[in-house]
Amino acid sequence: MYVVFLGAPGAGKGTQASVLAEKLGLAHISTGDVLRDAVRRETELGKQAKGYMERGELVPDALVVDLVVDRLSQEDAARGAVLDGFPRNVPQARALDDALKARGAAVDIAVYLRVPEPVLIARLAGRWECSICRAPYHELTNPPRRAGVCDQCGGPLTQRADDRPETVKRRLQVYFEQTAPLLDYYRERGVLAEVDGERPIPEVAEQVLAVVRRAEAGEGSRTSREG
Ligand code: AMP
Repeated sequence: MYVVFLGAPGAGKGTQASVLAEKLGLAHISTGDVLRDAVRRETELGKQAKGYMERGELVPDALVVDLVVDRLSQEDAARGAVLDGFPRNVPQARALDDALKARGAAVDIAVYLRVPEPVLIARLAGRWECSICRAPYHELTNPPRRAGVCDQCGGPLTQRADDRPETVKRRLQVYFEQTAPLLDYYRERGVLAEVDGERPIPEVAEQVLAVVRRAEAGEGSRTSREG
């Protein structure tokens, strides 16, 4: 089963994709995580991607598409995957369709986490992550048990460079211009499901699981809405 998460920066894609992938035993593919890791390790990909990421722009398709296609061909993605942060525009969605078609598969469901813009801005401003295991936290909605320390591995928490206010503004603009059209792309294909992303994390996770289970049971051929 191939699940795509859609939603603006701050909608909760990373958190929900990781919960869902674990529950279903599927690979979790986050292009943002792969790119940030490449930047930290100063690989060729990281060097090329860094400037775009710091400005809140999309990294060119030529770099990102190959990375995802390679990742999908690894063994842990053979049964399916949960994609988070990819596709980000219509050409990427087409490239994903082609790659899956080549293996007799398709996007089974695109889960759209719906969150109003003022909430997104507040969320991005309070966001922290573990500098070691990358577990996500939020000052208000998902604080660590001890301030500044990861619950899972004890690592120190840091803020993402691209969560600075100027970059957040640009990332949201890029989302509305380039990524939001994917809602129609997947709606037209009958695989879009909307979930109210403003609810607390466990409730959103429940709703997400419900729409995915419905798609799995073969009811994914129409637009569904939860919350
Ligand atoms: P994210 O963690 O998904 O918010 O991604 C952080 C940044 O990585 C984005 O602002 C982009 O610069 C870059 N990025 C992540 N995924 C993609 C993608 N599918 N296409 C282009 N750029 C991406």
